[in-house]
This record gives sequence, C-alpha cells and structure tokens, in this order.
Amino acid sequence: MKFTEYVYERPNLAQVTERYQHLLRDFENAPDFETQSFVFQAINDLRNTITSAMTLAQIRHTIDTRDEFYDQENRFCDENTPHLEALNSEFYRKLVASRFRPALEARWGKQLFQVADLSLKTFQPDIVSDLQQENRLASEYVKIKATANLELDRNQYNLSSIIPLEISPDREVRRKASAIKWRFFAENAPKMEQIFDDLVKTRTRIAQKLGFKNFVELGYARMLRSDYNAEMVANFRKQVKDFIVPLSQQLYERQRKRLNLNKLYIYDEEYKFSTGNPTPKGNAEEILRGGDKMYEELSTETHEFFQFLRQRDLLDVESKDGKATGGYCTYIEAHQSPFIFSNFNGTSGDIDVLTHEAGHAFQVYCSRNIGISEYRWPTYEACEIHSMSMEFFTWPWMSLFFKEDTEKYFFSHLGAALQFLPYGVAVDEFQHIIYENPDLTPAERNAVWHELEKQYLPHRHYEKSEFLEKGGFWQKQSHIFQHPFYYIDYTLAQICAFQFWKRDRENHEAAWADYVTLCKAGGSMSFLKLVELAGLRSPFEDGCIEEVVKPISAWLASVDDSKF
Ligand code: ZN
Repeated sequence: MKFTEYVYERPNLAQVTERYQHLLRDFENAPDFETQSFVFQAINDLRNTITSAMTLAQIRHTIDTRDEFYDQENRFCDENTPHLEALNSEFYRKLVASRFRPALEARWGKQLFQVADLSLKTFQPDIVSDLQQENRLASEYVKIKATANLELDRNQYNLSSIIPLEISPDREVRRKASAIKWRFFAENAPKMEQIFDDLVKTRTRIAQKLGFKNFVELGYARMLRSDYNAEMVANFRKQVKDFIVPLSQQLYERQRKRLNLNKLYIYDEEYKFSTGNPTPKGNAEEILRGGDKMYEELSTETHEFFQFLRQRDLLDVESKDGKATGGYCTYIEAHQSPFIFSNFNGTSGDIDVLTHEAGHAFQVYCSRNIGISEYRWPTYEACEIHSMSMEFFTWPWMSLFFKEDTEKYFFSHLGAALQFLPYGVAVDEFQHIIYENPDLTPAERNAVWHELEKQYLPHRHYEKSEFLEKGGFWQKQSHIFQHPFYYIDYTLAQICAFQFWKRDRENHEAAWADYVTLCKAGGSMSFLKLVELAGLRSPFEDGCIEEVVKPISAWLASVDDSKF
C-alpha cells in the first residue's frame, strides 16, 4: 500500500473517551497481573489508533496547507490533544499505583514507569490555563517570525528565503542580508522580550504550582530526563568550554585566512569557502536514487528499511506550492511507517534529509515491533544519536551526491559539528540562568547572553549593530521560546555521534552492530543506559570530551583546506 492509499478517518472522540475510561476501570480492577497486562495492551492499541489518525492528518496538512479538509482535521487534532493527554495522565496515575507494578516492570521494563512518574510530575489540573497561556505565547513568537517581510534591493524575503543571500559569495550581499534580518529582530525586540518575559513568569508559576523551586527542574522533567541533572549538565558545558572552544576558534581563524579577510564578521560565519559551500549535484530523483544505492550497500537492514520507504512513497522531499516549510520525521503506527518530510533547496541540507532524517526513520523502523508507544522513540538526546551518527556512517557514499565537492563536504560537516557545540551549550546555560533568576529585566537577560558569547563564542564580531552588541542574538533561537531546555540534547548526542565516527573508521562491523542494537532498543531505556548499551562513553564523564575530540581535531588539522 502506498502512503496516498492510507485511509484517514477522524477519531470519534466520544467513543474513544468512553472506551478509554472503560479500559482504565478494567485496568484498575484487574484481579491478577496477566489480566492487567492484557488490558494494558488494549489501552496501547487504542492509543495507537488515535495517534495514527492524527499523525496522518498532520502529515497531509503539511504536504498541502491549502487543502481545506486536512486543514480542518489538523485543527481538530490540535484542539483535542489536551483532552487525550488528560486520559493518558489518568492512565499513568493508575499504572504507577498498580498492585502488580513489580511484575509489570519485569515484563515491560522500568523505563515505562520512569516516563509515567516524570509525566505525572509535570501536570495537575489547576495548571491547564497556565499551559494554554504558555502555548499562546510561544505561538505568538512563531507568528512574528513567520510574518517577517524583509526588503532588499526591491525584493521581498522572509526569514527562510533570505538564507541563500546570507551565504552569497558576494560579501556586500551577505552584509546587507544580515543587516536587514537583524534590523527585523531589533525592531521586534520590544515585542519578543515581552513575550519571553511572560513565558518566563508563566513557566515559573507553573513550576511553583507543581511544587518545584523554579522552572529548571520542571524543564528537565518535561524532557523526561531520569538519569542526569543540572549539575551534570553544568560539568558537561565546562568541558566544552575547556576543550572545544579553543578548537572552534582555530577553525574560525582558518576560515578567515581561507576567505582572505581581515576580520570574520557575523555575516561571514556561514560562508565557509571562497569557492562556495559544498552542494549536492543532481535533481531530487537522482538524489533519492543515490539513497537507494547507499542504503543497499550499507547493510541489509538499511536496504530493507529504505526500500520500504521508497515503495510506499514515505518520503516527501521536494518543495511544492502550499507545502509547509521545514522538515521532520514522524511515524504512523497503524502502518508501521516512518515518514520523512522536507523541502529540498539545493544545499547540503538536502543530503542531511537522506542521512540525518533517515537516521531517525531507521531507528523508529527498527523499533516498530517494540509493543509500547512510550518506547517507540527514546528521549531527544538519544534520538539525535541515531540521526547524527547516520550522517557519519554514510560518509563512504557522499561522493554519490557531492562529486567534486566531497572532500570539502567532509571538512565542513565535521567542522560545523564541532563549532556548533559552544553555541549549543551557551543556549543551554542562558536558559539555566534565566529560569534560576526569573525576575531579571529584558536588558539584564540580554546582558547575560552577551556575557556567554564572550566565553563561548569569543571569535564573534558584530559590525555596527547596537542590538547584537547588547546581546540580542538569542532572540532568533526558537527553542528558547518553544522548547525550553531542549537545546543541550543536540550537543550531548553530537559527542556520542563523534564516538561512532571514530569507531566506524577503526572497525566498521563492530560500530555498525552497536548502532543497530541502539536503534532496536528504541526508547526502552533512559539516555545513559542507551549510551552504555551502544558501547559509548557517557558525555558527562570527566575526560570524555577531551578524548572524543582528539581524533576529530587531528583529522581536521590534517586537511589542507587552502585547496577548497
Ligand atoms: Zn534530528
């Protein structure tokens, strides 16, 4: 069956609710463990049916946002998600209080109960209106950014379409594009700072109602983190500062020399080579055919997986009128189908879809028979190991896509991965400071960011921008508004993926086998347990970062980048 033939039917909410409540009663009253386990399966099936329908509606809505039917269905799903969350919350309450908990844990694993315990800590009925307020504020931020109308040389751009100009070989174009983008943020700063102030206060209020001291601990609970805390993350950031910031500075210095500039300004940072950034050659169909070959040769598991996606049309990658922007990977339970959505634009990002997003899709495909929806995906830092590591496991096939740009691609891929880390931890530290001190004024918050930039991004030069000099840069980072405390996940995963990069070069079979084991485990374990299962070192361990980046930095140093 092809994706277009998957049948969508709007869930009948009254019936679903009645059935769910009926099952919850059966669960609670089960006379023995086997009966309770059986009811649990029925609850699981019911949840899967509903999420499948909702996911299908969401996908079809993003494929063509002009389609009125799916626009309505998507709205229906948005409106009713909180209702289903309330039912799930009810289920978690009964689950953690089960008389047969030890037996259930033995059969289904402890992680399900950790997820349930943490989820319950993040919700109680009297915060519903605060949660709605939080969502409204985050949406307001998205809306301001989405309506950006930037005018340059009598052409109109939005924040996505301006990107090609920001990496133009013509420095004057880059400078102007960057200037109008930041002027937009400067003009909207009063609004965005007000939204953020309201968000910080709302989140703090929610945290206190739930019995937390401030939002930090609640933020961690929302991310379902069960085996590390803020102190461990602080120690991780310190290691990034000590061992990665200096390497990152060296890379910027090499870039400045390559580009033959006196000073590398912010508008030069993304422009890596005077001959242009590496780009894929060939159209979308040729790129996808490259994907067929790559995954066939990589392993039998990836071959089966990728052909499953291809035969069912589960990749929608080309830009089309009416299609939503951005990219994602999701999963349709009822058809055991991962789905990859993106908008090819001729940059190396198109190949990331085939490697990074496909890494997410491969994991969920490997976990398709895992049985419990909580285990379909792990927590986010673990999810990004699958995707970021697949970017490295597929290196031997990159010449299929980048042809003469392949060497340049490797250098920029690894360099950018390393240079992302200081920024990533700065965004994280910023949020810790903000939520530990919720009464800071907007000006004081900007000053905090400015101070962090000096520590983590000392290479950064803003040319004549009062807004950026005062520390306004963070306002463009949507995670800070929409997904608090998410950002560190990318950096933790990158340190894990770097380990796979090294191990793959030393012993491909062993590294790949561990990677597949990791993917098959899905979300059945917490982050650090998964890291251990995959034979990786915990990024929190003292000395881990120093050791992991040694071979990366040696490889980067061995490349003669003057030839690019
Ligand atoms: Zn990802």
